[in-house]
Amino acid sequence: MMPTLANYHHYHSIASPLGSLYSKQGVKGFPRLQPALTFLLSQLKTPSLQAEQLVDLSDSGGIGLLSSAQAVTVAGTSRASLRCAEKNRSQHENATIKAAASWQLEPASCDVLWLLPGSDKGTARVRADLQGAARALQKDGVAYVVMHKDQGAKRYEKIAKELFGMLELIGKEAGWRLCKLTKRLDDHHSLSPETFTAQDFMAQDFMAQTFVARGLELQAAAGVFAAGKLDKGSDFLLTSLDIASYQGKSVLDIGCGYGMLSLELARAGAQVTALDDDWLAVESCRANAARHQLDIRVHHSDVNSALDANETFDAVVMNPPFHLGKQVLFDVPLAFLAAAYQHLEVGGHMTLVANRALPYEAALAGWAKWCELERSSAFKVLRAWR
Ligand code: SAH
Repeated sequence: MMPTLANYHHYHSIASPLGSLYSKQGVKGFPRLQPALTFLLSQLKTPSLQAEQLVDLSDSGGIGLLSSAQAVTVAGTSRASLRCAEKNRSQHENATIKAAASWQLEPASCDVLWLLPGSDKGTARVRADLQGAARALQKDGVAYVVMHKDQGAKRYEKIAKELFGMLELIGKEAGWRLCKLTKRLDDHHSLSPETFTAQDFMAQDFMAQTFVARGLELQAAAGVFAAGKLDKGSDFLLTSLDIASYQGKSVLDIGCGYGMLSLELARAGAQVTALDDDWLAVESCRANAARHQLDIRVHHSDVNSALDANETFDAVVMNPPFHLGKQVLFDVPLAFLAAAYQHLEVGGHMTLVANRALPYEAALAGWAKWCELERSSAFKVLRAWR
């Protein structure tokens, strides 16, 4: 049976401490709220919700829209979450929804901010998230930040205290720690976040790393998949492909990250369309295409949400995600496969790399045929034809 994309794209009403909210597959924590967020909401007393301008950076379907803040901005990097926020928009009369990381927000533009730094995205990203949050707040503005003690919370709290000037630990439960960070900058703080423009931020080492992979000079924003290096699976996929055979073909790269697969295919003369759920991956991929003067269309897209339903390609490539936090989730990879099938020409092929242990073969049953192209001690490359 082909997994249906209709299922993947379905919005579900889920319960939250602030009322019911639309969420969907692909949103972190689905079919529940992320534990960090549940904890945050259980701790915040009503006055904390009465902000003038709340920025919700939790990437959780726009739950801030259910708060009593006078105005709410839902900013985030996940397209799946932002789509839900659009669906939840009617819950607040003064709402702004946009793709942005914390450091891409207007400086001094809000008085309250919620942030769940993605410690699964590495130290550089958490630092950047915190620094951007400090910059986005007005003086005396407050950021509520939840981190876990097993994911470096205490270390990050030290950094946060330096960036904001004041830190209070206001809740602890099951390893989760809720900090109230108040922006109290004075001359003693060597890092004064207001002095950075957005471009400066991107140029900071911790924001956009420059590195070389497969002979190409590349950049990737902090926290983008495999930023700063070449993923072993992606490398294995590229060495398994007859890249020259893609010349002149239209190719779709699902989950492009900073663009490794897309760039190599475009260099070989393919017309490449790339998409990713992560806004920072999209920006990184666009920057890399521009740097190498390659014409790649890059969409910020929740699986195929940015494509026309009947748009088709000669080939599809992907290195599907299988981790979302610590969970192994198959919803998104199966949606990648279903999207590949939907957007392939009849006779076209999809090639993926996966951890050897992952049971993708079962999901290829409805295809015209499939085979294993290569196998290593860690990975396998599968190809299937429509
Ligand atoms: N192709 C890149 C990245 C592979 S990792 C490379 O080879 O380096 C998988 C990518 O899928 C990540 O960049 C992740 O952000 C993206 N992704 C995860 N969920 C997604 C979704 N729902 N829609 C589109 N992309 C998604």
